[in-house]
Amino acid sequence: MKRFVVLVWLFSLTVAFAWSAHETLTYLIVKSTLPNADDLVEITPYSYNEKRIYNIERLILDDVCGRFMVNFIPSWAKFYPPDPAPINNKVPVWQVLTVYSVEPDLGMDEGLNLSPLQSIIGNSQGVRHMKYKLLFFDFFEGSESFLYFVEMSKQAFQRNDRYWGYRFLARAIHHLEDLSMPYHNAPGRLGDVLESLLWNREKGMELAYRHFSYDEYLAYLLYLEDQEAINSIVEAQPKRVKNMRELIQRVRLLGLRNLEDVDEIFVRVYPNLDRSLSWNDFEASAKQLEELKRITNHIMKDFSAYLKGFLLDFLTQVGEI
Ligand SMILES: [Zn+2]
Repeated sequence: MKRFVVLVWLFSLTVAFAWSAHETLTYLIVKSTLPNADDLVEITPYSYNEKRIYNIERLILDDVCGRFMVNFIPSWAKFYPPDPAPINNKVPVWQVLTVYSVEPDLGMDEGLNLSPLQSIIGNSQGVRHMKYKLLFFDFFEGSESFLYFVEMSKQAFQRNDRYWGYRFLARAIHHLEDLSMPYHNAPGRLGDVLESLLWNREKGMELAYRHFSYDEYLAYLLYLEDQEAINSIVEAQPKRVKNMRELIQRVRLLGLRNLEDVDEIFVRVYPNLDRSLSWNDFEASAKQLEELKRITNHIMKDFSAYLKGFLLDFLTQVGEI
């Protein structure tokens, strides 16, 4: 039994996908920011030598625009981005960024041998999607993943391959979004993390359920078209930073600084959580979650401001706007 619980705990840390509804968040940011969001780009085949390895069976290299959203969006969603079929082998910029901002969560990083640390956490996807800060140490490669795809995007634009320029940029956006998620910066509050590691494995499961549940909370707000959440994203004004290092730091801090408050609310409203919550749980306790909504909207507003600033600067730099 003990072994099983340990395995579940280890597994739970890495099956974490971060915010659900990546595509809807990206869509709202891109449509409200980019002057060239409706520009059409020609779909081109993949032709890159990469330094990264992927799970080839799960990696998608064909274009899936027009076929993606229908299979991906949950049936209870009322609001989500459109997904028109390509016309004359062309798709708009907003659609490439929207559809492929989900891609890194679809298995391309699973089942790989990426780091000696992954034997402790069980799965390779988490290695690339998280950046834990525990005491004075950083673990995993979430920020490196963002930088890697910014570099790949730059390369593609230099080759005048606009389609892959935007596709790689969408993956970079995914990783930056992941870094804004509190539970992608630490599994929980330090005391709980130590407890789960040292003497109480069940605590590890509880932390994982809080993480999954908070992932779902953003999906709940966006898919059910919460106007305050949508406005906080759409109305955020682009914020500039000095360089990519500062961008990553500021986005990670958004996650880290709000971890304690988010965690406290979960403990108060859902003590001894033993499953992942979904939209109907949140709907049932909406009154008690008002503070959680306020914090989440605040993270979304600040994150959107940073991502907007980055996209405008980057696309200017590569000559797209
Ligand atoms: Zn992810």
